[in-house]
Amino acid sequence: TAPLLEVTDLTVEFDTQGGTLRAVDEVSWALHRGKTLVVLGESGSGKSVSTQAITGILDTPPGRVRAGSALFDGQDLIAIPEKQRRRIIGSRISLVFQDALSALNPVHTVGRQIAELYQVHRGMSRKDAMRRAADMLDRVGIPTARARVRDYPHEFSGGMRQRVMIAMALALGPEVLIADEPTTALDVTVQAQILELLEEIQQDSDMGVVLITHDLGVAAEIADDLVIMYAGRVIESGPTPLVLGDPAHPYTQGLLRSMPSSEMKGLELPAIPGTPPNMLRLPTGCPFRPRCPKAIDLCATERPALRALSSGGPRKTACHLADTLDTTETPSLAGGA
Ligand code: SF4
Ligand code: MG
Repeated sequence: TAPLLEVTDLTVEFDTQGGTLRAVDEVSWALHRGKTLVVLGESGSGKSVSTQAITGILDTPPGRVRAGSALFDGQDLIAIPEKQRRRIIGSRISLVFQDALSALNPVHTVGRQIAELYQVHRGMSRKDAMRRAADMLDRVGIPTARARVRDYPHEFSGGMRQRVMIAMALALGPEVLIADEPTTALDVTVQAQILELLEEIQQDSDMGVVLITHDLGVAAEIADDLVIMYAGRVIESGPTPLVLGDPAHPYTQGLLRSMPSSEMKGLELPAIPGTPPNMLRLPTGCPFRPRCPKAIDLCATERPALRALSSGGPRKTACHLADTLDTTETPSLAGGA
């Protein structure tokens, strides 16, 4: 079946004082109905910018989409007029961010904010809409939801506020939910509860979820499909058991090797030697070369394309040596650790 949301060769640039910065470079992925796709990468890898470009929000005004498409229900979200895109974003595709406090309106009760969606988009009366808002809060696990509709955002704890934001995002029954680091600001226990909630909600719907995270443990736990980004590019992608169980890219291998096999949740991406490249001065050839223990001469001159391995399967890797690297010594996370 056709993907729910298909991003192809998305390229995003920013004008900076130091020159043009290509934050996202030919990124492609496909989200399928009822699946969770995780975009994993360090800060600055382009993972947030790629989804911001799709939804029409770019972090910084001088940013622009240079190329690529994002197909949703036969429409290219990049190419359609802003007005048409606005009809889709927020209802059929909805967003959850890291910082619920700044995403919610501080001067309105949470009930009113959710109810407004039903009044505007579904033409409901205020009373019915408030009832639906309470139902939504209840559904995302907020205790005494019927009373809490009258509370303001600041009266909720960080975790509960994130639930409010998820309730808002789900209110209109979106086909796609895009969550950008939705649990990063929360403590580990609450993080786990929010992720469970997202999984639970998805179980009784066909909704597709795009989750953006820098947390390998989170990715390993809930991703059906994984897209790993480095320096604005996808360096490895495919079904999670394949990508984490038998990583072919030295970066993915490094991440897994340096990660404690138990208790991974809540960890930053583990440190591998070296630092991410300056995006304004990318190394020639492969952007991972300065940190790569396997680099050969070719890596300095030629950029490796993202391609399927000769061994088959739907996984893709951007590395000249992907077909030949011995991956057997890498600890396996297949089947979820
Ligand atoms: Fe390392 Fe070369 Fe592969 Fe890049 S292309 S990851 S430098 S081996
Ligand atoms: Mg981000």
